[in-house]
Amino acid sequence: MKEPVSLVDARPRLASLEARAVSAWFGDRKVLDRVSLLMPAGKVTALIGPSGCGKSTFLRILNRMHELVPSASLAGEVLVDEVDIYDAGLRITDARRQIGMVFQKPNPFPAMSIQDNVTAGLVLTGIKAGKAERADLVEECLTKAGLWNEVKDRLRQPGGGLSGGQQQRLCIARSLAVRPRILLMDEPCSALDPTSTRRIEQTIQELAADVTIVIVTHNMQQAARVSDQCAFFLAEAGTPGVIVEHGPTDLMFEAPQDQRTMDYVNGVF
Ligand code: ADP
Ligand code: MG
Repeated sequence: MKEPVSLVDARPRLASLEARAVSAWFGDRKVLDRVSLLMPAGKVTALIGPSGCGKSTFLRILNRMHELVPSASLAGEVLVDEVDIYDAGLRITDARRQIGMVFQKPNPFPAMSIQDNVTAGLVLTGIKAGKAERADLVEECLTKAGLWNEVKDRLRQPGGGLSGGQQQRLCIARSLAVRPRILLMDEPCSALDPTSTRRIEQTIQELAADVTIVIVTHNMQQAARVSDQCAFFLAEAGTPGVIVEHGPTDLMFEAPQDQRTMDYVNGVF
């Protein structure tokens, strides 16, 4: 029998995430070709590139969501601190608990209270927590997500009553509650106004001390502001997506090695 995971000593160590020669297919259509990328512990990695080049697919492979699509298949390895999350001995729930995901459209449970939204993932992942422990966790995660001061007097009100930006921060708090080592974010600000976007960017920068972050963004200024390194994805005419170039963010923007990266970051396409 596995011991239930305790919250008390569950402060996770920072972990690196590494993709090695990851290829992906939907049916017989190949959409990613041997993508390798090291996403270092405690850093923010931005995935940039035009629509349709496989960024979201890559992100879903990083937390074992890709395999939920019936026609989907993949090859390659994904390692969290050298442990392959696709290892046959590792349960999918154990892999996922370490790797949280935040989506483009904020998706809290709208009728559920703010506090229950935060702890919703505990039940799903089999983490046991008493009432006091839960209350502490709600405060801790809402604080980390930069939402505590705005909602501390209405924790029992429904999550659906918050603004879009607040809902997205609630979703970040919810993903933090199971203490992931990695946080994946797929265009988390695309549905938000500029003020909410800046608020989330601040949260991302603060979180990077505790959790390794991978963010897909179409906003080049955002990538420049929040990330330590960038990877430029591209799928040229009918070919599967590849990483054309990756490196420290300042170099990618100021002195890209590949003309296609230069054109993209300068808004040529
Ligand atoms: P991006 O996030 O960079 O816009 P995606 O990963 O969403 O790219 O898509 C990569 C390619 O895979 C696209 O050509 C897209 O049409 C295809 N694709 C994505 N999801 C599916 C799916 N569930 N079934 C079939 N094809 C898909
Ligand atoms: Mg996408």
